[in-house]
Amino acid sequence: MNNIYRFLDLAKVNEPYLDQLVEAAGRVVRSGRYIGGYEVDNFEHSLSQMLGVPYVIGVSNGLDALRLTLRAWIELGRLSKGDEVVVPGNTYIASILAISDAGLKPVLVDPDPVTMNLSAAGLETAISPRVRAVMPVHLYGRVAWSEELREIIVRHSLLVIEDSAQAIGAKALCDGLYSSRMAGGLGDAGCLSFYPTKNIGALGDAGAVATHDKKLAETVRALANYGADYRYHNIYKGFNCRMDPMQAALLSVKLPHTLEENADRFARAVTYNRNIHNPGVITPLQSAGIVDHVWHQYVIRVTGGKRDRFREQLLERGVETDIHYATPPHLQPCYQEEFFADSNNSQFGPLPVTERLASEIVSLPIATGTTVADAAEISEIINLIKL
Ligand SMILES: *Cc1c(COP(=O)(O)O)cnc(C)c1O
Repeated sequence: MNNIYRFLDLAKVNEPYLDQLVEAAGRVVRSGRYIGGYEVDNFEHSLSQMLGVPYVIGVSNGLDALRLTLRAWIELGRLSKGDEVVVPGNTYIASILAISDAGLKPVLVDPDPVTMNLSAAGLETAISPRVRAVMPVHLYGRVAWSEELREIIVRHSLLVIEDSAQAIGAKALCDGLYSSRMAGGLGDAGCLSFYPTKNIGALGDAGAVATHDKKLAETVRALANYGADYRYHNIYKGFNCRMDPMQAALLSVKLPHTLEENADRFARAVTYNRNIHNPGVITPLQSAGIVDHVWHQYVIRVTGGKRDRFREQLLERGVETDIHYATPPHLQPCYQEEFFADSNNSQFGPLPVTERLASEIVSLPIATGTTVADAAEISEIINLIKL
């Protein structure tokens, strides 16, 4: 057996759409419209329909979606510089960077070790009068939302900015579990990323903000366009963070396939969960259905300090893996000054779960290019490794 199981092959991810992508690119080239216009409007409309959220603004990337939303709340007087925003400590650093960039304070909390997401209990521990907002991150594609979480949010009148970068198409049960809503439409604002590796990826950078709030939508749109509400009339000191029509056109090809793409990931994840029986490996919680987890990553845990050796043994057998993320944001060099400046600062309490997870997690191949048969074979390879 000398198969190579690639972790991610982006050309393979886009191969099924090749002809349509080329056609869409040609359409943009011939249109002569390279900023804004029909392609962006059309994509925003499709995404708004899909999410069931009335306002969608296409922006340059996921980090900018988060930054623009927080900055818009400051412009609208709903947040003030120095206000605290609760965020899970094990997220991708972009979540935290957006909070810092807006002059707000990230309050990092440990995730639930089983779901690896922010829990109601976690949010509760971080609540103080300075906390004005919360950023649930639907990490690895699993929706971080529950009635308990919502109850705390309502009780403390927190603004909710969802980091939905990894969870396009995922749904949460809401309103007493009688209906479901899409991730990105659960809170006051939802921020999406179309980075090429995401479940629906552009062929470059792109992102979006989704909201039910018209005022927020208008402010985000203005901020993303130099702060102008109309041409050459700048009401904010804004940015240039627009979505390119080229990316919008390419994404319009892929967006209608979100459900199939997610269903394929689900099939691979179920295959892993059914077939991995190595006692040294903790497989991720299997959600009840296809609904609340879109498996952006399939993340197992290898405990007892054996993770790195495990990855080496997999690689020797042709299985590429990755780690999301090896160094948590609070241990990154850029945050050390902030951390050490005030050691009893509530912003960065001890984060033992975050740090333990960072040392145990391993992402297995799950994107297009990995078949269900591959997932079964990789599972068998894992079962043969002595831990
Ligand atoms: C990818 C990602 C982002 C940032 O999106 P970009 O488009 O890469 O800027 C933010 N948060 C999370 C959780 C992500 O996975």
